[in-house]
Amino acid sequence: MGKNKKSQATMQDMVCKKNDILTMEIIDLSTKGEGVGRVDGYTLFVKDAVIGDVVRVLVMKTKKHFGYAKLLEIVTPSKDRIEPKCPVARQCGGCQLQHYSYESQIRWKENKVYHCLSRIGGFSEVPMEPILYMDSPYYYRNKAQFPVGTGKEGQIITGFYAGRTHSIVENTNCVIQHPCNEKISKAVLEFMEEYHISAYDEKEHTGLVRHILTRVGVKTGEVMVCLVINGTKLPFTDALVEKLLGLPLQGMEAKKGNVAENESDAANGNGAKNEQATVSALKIESICLNENTDKTNVILGQNISVLYGRDYIEDYIGNIKYQISPLSFFQVNPKQTERLYETALEYADLKGGEVVWDLYCGIGTISLFLAQKAAKVCGVEIVPQAIEDARKNAALNHFDNTEFFVGAAEEVVPEQYEKSNGTLKADVVTIDPPRKGCDERLLETVVQMQPSKIVYVSCDPATLARDARYLCDRGYELKRVRACDMFGQSYHVESVVLLTKKG
Ligand code: SAH
Repeated sequence: MGKNKKSQATMQDMVCKKNDILTMEIIDLSTKGEGVGRVDGYTLFVKDAVIGDVVRVLVMKTKKHFGYAKLLEIVTPSKDRIEPKCPVARQCGGCQLQHYSYESQIRWKENKVYHCLSRIGGFSEVPMEPILYMDSPYYYRNKAQFPVGTGKEGQIITGFYAGRTHSIVENTNCVIQHPCNEKISKAVLEFMEEYHISAYDEKEHTGLVRHILTRVGVKTGEVMVCLVINGTKLPFTDALVEKLLGLPLQGMEAKKGNVAENESDAANGNGAKNEQATVSALKIESICLNENTDKTNVILGQNISVLYGRDYIEDYIGNIKYQISPLSFFQVNPKQTERLYETALEYADLKGGEVVWDLYCGIGTISLFLAQKAAKVCGVEIVPQAIEDARKNAALNHFDNTEFFVGAAEEVVPEQYEKSNGTLKADVVTIDPPRKGCDERLLETVVQMQPSKIVYVSCDPATLARDARYLCDRGYELKRVRACDMFGQSYHVESVVLLTKKG
């Protein structure tokens, strides 16, 4: 075997080795959005290169079947290459595809879902519907967490982490964040300079301000600013509050296209309704502190104190209102979330009398969406805090037909099924798991519950394909598939599929 390994290594060295400089064409993108090129059948991954580019690269690392190379020069740009809007797009770890036209990004994402279902899932027919794309793939995020640090000249800086590291790429104008972030982060830096408040030093575990967290209720206009501090007190908080409240945020409401509006939804082949919530002027409704004195990568601690207003803001997805605290999970692109969940609702095609189980329910976003049209919705989620939020949100919106269970779906659902002696039934099951998809024990019980429809929302098409195959080998049929772009400029893609019970 050792001999074999050696001969393979030699073959790979013959094609290319570390420090070689090569010119090649990029023919594909990896699942993480890196350009893929081939040299005599050997695969090289090149960050920041896109399909159609001819590039000169420096080989950095070689493995048996593939290697990594650094982009030195774009010899001939792809017809789909564009100039990134953000000057630090390449250094920053946030976006991977800003140099690829949005049209190309969404075609690539749609294909990714299609190929996973056909190759991994083995579906010969994949009933794809057009991808739900963003009307504007910029300034869409409603939550930012800016790390604060000290720059080379001793000045206080903020920005985002470079890919795979914790060094801060200085930037206050992130083009995927809500536009009000720039004013807020600059104001906090000015306040810190003016009052000599130190930035946190991760290595030494010294200094005070660790992160600036902002959240925006895109429909309500409510803004939250939360400073994460390595301590229990921040001096001169009155001055901070005064400075933040004095910021001119008028006119920075969500740009057209970043909040669901009926006309643009129609153009995007989507019928999302948005009667109740209209876009309101921006107003800071919450300024708070979060204590995090641990030496950890985790951004937030558990203690929150209010400096101004409330410790939460409110926003809507569809017509459902949510209270969002600094610690709550909330989807970062509410407009696309609304479109995705509207599609899930359409796929569920509820008539009013159904019992629905919403698995991996988080704060109950899908549960409450479906509770508008179902007899009863049961949600299951592993994080107790998220279930607390789900119950609170159900009460806030006056739903009395929901029930929430805390625990791993693969434990709670089989337990409930056994407890009922096999009588537990669901008309519709919705599943929205994390990237690793579902545990087989859960899928097995879902099949036993015999729902007529399974609506599977997924953030990883590969595990979706695996789980859909499992279900389709046990009596279900893949009926509808739709990809949704929630994270423009990144390699992530969401999708929703409908599986129906055969016969
Ligand atoms: N639909 C939800 C988000 C789903 S994200 C919403 O809109 O709020 C996936 C969720 O699965 C997360 O909330 C995560 O905490 C939860 N989760 C992860 N593993 C789980 C498990 N084994 N059982 C139940 N929930 C789980």
